[in-house]
Amino acid sequence: MNTQNTNTQTNQEPLISSSSSSSKFNQNYIMPVYNRLPIAFEKGEGPWLISTKGERFLDAISGIAVCGLGHAHPIVNKTIETQAKKLIHTSNLYQIPLQQTLAEELAKISGLSECFFCNSGAEANEAAIKLARLYGHQKGIQNPHIIVMENAFHGRTLATLSASGSRKVQAGFEPLVSGFTRAPLNDIDALKNIANNNPQVVAILLEPIQGEGGIHSASTEYLSQIRTLCDAENWLLMLDEVQSGNGRTGKYFAYQHTYIKPDVVTTAKGLGNGIPIGVCITGVKAQNVMQAGNHGSTFGGNPFACAVGSSVIETLFNEGLIERAAKLGDRMLDQLHEELERTDYTHSIRGKGLMIGIELDKPCSELVSLAKAKGLLINVTAERVVRLLPPLILSDQEADNMITLLCKLIKTFMGDDRRKPRPS
Ligand SMILES: *Cc1c(COP(=O)(O)O)cnc(C)c1O
Repeated sequence: MNTQNTNTQTNQEPLISSSSSSSKFNQNYIMPVYNRLPIAFEKGEGPWLISTKGERFLDAISGIAVCGLGHAHPIVNKTIETQAKKLIHTSNLYQIPLQQTLAEELAKISGLSECFFCNSGAEANEAAIKLARLYGHQKGIQNPHIIVMENAFHGRTLATLSASGSRKVQAGFEPLVSGFTRAPLNDIDALKNIANNNPQVVAILLEPIQGEGGIHSASTEYLSQIRTLCDAENWLLMLDEVQSGNGRTGKYFAYQHTYIKPDVVTTAKGLGNGIPIGVCITGVKAQNVMQAGNHGSTFGGNPFACAVGSSVIETLFNEGLIERAAKLGDRMLDQLHEELERTDYTHSIRGKGLMIGIELDKPCSELVSLAKAKGLLINVTAERVVRLLPPLILSDQEADNMITLLCKLIKTFMGDDRRKPRPS
């Protein structure tokens, strides 16, 4: 327990103390919903973050898949500066040409047709969930159900936490939003079984690669079977690409590794490189379901966020960063396999592009602090999965250093020296 935090009003300590003690970080006035590491950053340069004490850290998490172009990208900065001087917000009471432009870009990239803009991933999914319910009602289904996956993560609003497959996210917030039916990932028979027994189903919502759940991919075969099932049952296939979108996996959207097209796709995180923006994109089957008055967002699709979104997309394509993510991801996965595959504690190494998970055979959240002490920022999810979401602008050298350092840390943490050496 931190007893220093109990004296509030009279505490004259500076906000961020120069002391190395973690207890000196003042978290008064902040609702303690996050377990934060005792460090703050002042500046970013590409894949590097510089702490308030001037230490440099290689960023393998990118603000949780947000800063795909790295920190302080000059083109994004220029757009921010230029657009901030011109116009930030008008509301959706008026035409917004920059929103039109971004919508057209996203429609062309996704092969879909209409965009609803909001400010976060949860909101993008909230829009998709509302759309699916409306689609159901328009078909005469009074109590529409959406199939969602075990271990899914769709956000922290009431509907999206109810759609998530994690008790940790839901506990204490009951009553949950009803109308979700859960199924195991990559099990088409489970879905067919639901189809045969539940005439209320109107849609399936899933992440092509589960992020928070521990980097679990929906197989290509499964996705194409889902597409067939959704066509046969007249369900909407809705993909949550909040984390896997915007080039991270080596295609703009992760479903573009397959031949299927969803009816609805949501994204957020990487689209604004740190400026909040989310979007729910619909194809022909889901088009025109939402009408005036059905949904809205005051901030959503404002000129500022949309200018930045377009600038991020342009940079991803102009600088070849999506192919880069694919190549770099292969390189990093190869090296991880080389280093860790034959150890008896590495359960699996998986992912696509720069969305990588290394599952160990025991809880490993301590690795986050151990890595930080060596100048590397990583994340651990689902207790035993080291998750890497580095920026797409990483150089080969930086990627190699990242993997070398990480593997060394994992080996030490797992007590590799006490185990029998690998056959060489
Ligand atoms: C992060 C995430 C969300 C929630 O996004 P927020 O911007 O935090 O609301 C939803 N779905 C997936 C797959 C995510 O990774």
